[in-house]
Amino acid sequence: MTTQQSNTSPNSADSTSNSFNGLPLPPAMQATLQQLGYMTMTPIQAASLPITLAGHDLIAQAKTGSGKTAAFALALLTKLNPRRFAVQAMVLCPTRELADQVTQEIRRLARSADNIKILTLCGGSTMRPQISSLEHGAHIVVGTPGRIMDHMERGTLNLEALSTLVLDEADRMLDMGFYEDIAFVAKRCPAERQTLLFSATYPDGITRLARQFMCKPKEVKLLEQHEGTKISQRFYEVEEEQRLQSVAVLLKHYRPISTLAFCNTKQQCRSLLEALHARGIKALTLNGDMEQRERDQVLIQFANRSCSVLVATDVAARGLDIDKLEMVINVDVTPDPEIHVHRIGRTGRADQNGCALTLCGPADRNRIITIAKSMRIVPEWHELDELKEDDQSPLVPPMVTLRILGGRKEKIRAGDVLGALTGDAGYTREQVGKIAVTEFSTYVAVDRNIAHEAVRKLAAGKVKGKTVKVHAL
Ligand code: ADP
Ligand code: MG
Repeated sequence: MTTQQSNTSPNSADSTSNSFNGLPLPPAMQATLQQLGYMTMTPIQAASLPITLAGHDLIAQAKTGSGKTAAFALALLTKLNPRRFAVQAMVLCPTRELADQVTQEIRRLARSADNIKILTLCGGSTMRPQISSLEHGAHIVVGTPGRIMDHMERGTLNLEALSTLVLDEADRMLDMGFYEDIAFVAKRCPAERQTLLFSATYPDGITRLARQFMCKPKEVKLLEQHEGTKISQRFYEVEEEQRLQSVAVLLKHYRPISTLAFCNTKQQCRSLLEALHARGIKALTLNGDMEQRERDQVLIQFANRSCSVLVATDVAARGLDIDKLEMVINVDVTPDPEIHVHRIGRTGRADQNGCALTLCGPADRNRIITIAKSMRIVPEWHELDELKEDDQSPLVPPMVTLRILGGRKEKIRAGDVLGALTGDAGYTREQVGKIAVTEFSTYVAVDRNIAHEAVRKLAAGKVKGKTVKVHAL
């Protein structure tokens, strides 16, 4: 394996060497990138596109939000023959949510090309429509390993023409126990193909996958070095029995709008949730046992600023594309420095200053030493006693999520809901936050002060000419 290492640093975005112009991409694709506002390549794109476009196998490691999708999508799109109605590229993703995100990004990038059909194949949806879509021919399929395997076993997915196989979020798929499924799928793909593997971290299983299913892969790793430029890290000494309570103390002192709190176990997540609720703090948690609809609801509430804290394990949080986090709290210290770096990388995105707080019990000392060494930092120690809970007003999120029963199935669009709120109901655009339309429900964030009244007005009025049921979450 060839290893290429590069470090992401603010200065590495050199506009001449990082322009897409230097890549062997068709002019129409260059134009699409321009239209999308992709002026320069992200570091992972700059490091991997020359390799993927040259047809090599690749293992690429970079954090969430670094632009990995385009790093493989541009390669598979340029190889595609639109006149051949057969599946030529397949992307495996851990969850439906991520598969949807990938599909969307490929669609955006493919818009200059004529009639490229991309199909999402995930569990949780009925087989029949997927089968009939496959019968009509697709060029690219994006899906979860289980469902893809189902289709292969039924003979409804033919992979004879496949020339690119992508394993996206490979570490998370391994965490979710998909090794065997991935193996099943990869073994039945044509041997003559390009295999691309993307991952945020690098657990052992990745090497096993690579050895078994990849051909002389090149490797690109983007080590994150936050070196205090954007993220201020503070380490708080706590006694074990204070750990959960101190999260609320930190939150009431710093008063962030959105915080991601990491615990090492699901049980700890549950305990923290209880502790936060007891202090009147709106918190939600994500875990693998949740149904997709519950997950969607949690993520929507967190993203639209109507939930102050999202409590999660590393497994549950991986791959989530949530932006603008003011704060990350490591409620438990992770034994793996790489995971620590990944956790704190969730704050301070897009040139905003981030804040990462880590709670250290007496038994965590060694872990902190390892983390500090690997990040080459001197930990900044603080004591909880320094924090005055001077502002005793409760910490409440600025928005409230209203759920309207009715979604894509009822052909409701975001504009319909915005229209109802700013039209008949008489609110301003500023009082309405994010609107998310799912299959059966629509979620709209509204200013906390108008939430109660907005529920009443929406229920009394009409959305898309129909009376709707509404409640606040
Ligand atoms: P990852 O898979 O690494 O988590 P994504 O591929 O989902 O990241 O990209 C994150 C976001 O960055 C997306 O909204 C995408 O449209 C945007 N993006 C990707 N590449 C570029 C680029 N070169 N310039 C500007 N935005 C980009
Ligand atoms: Mg991704």
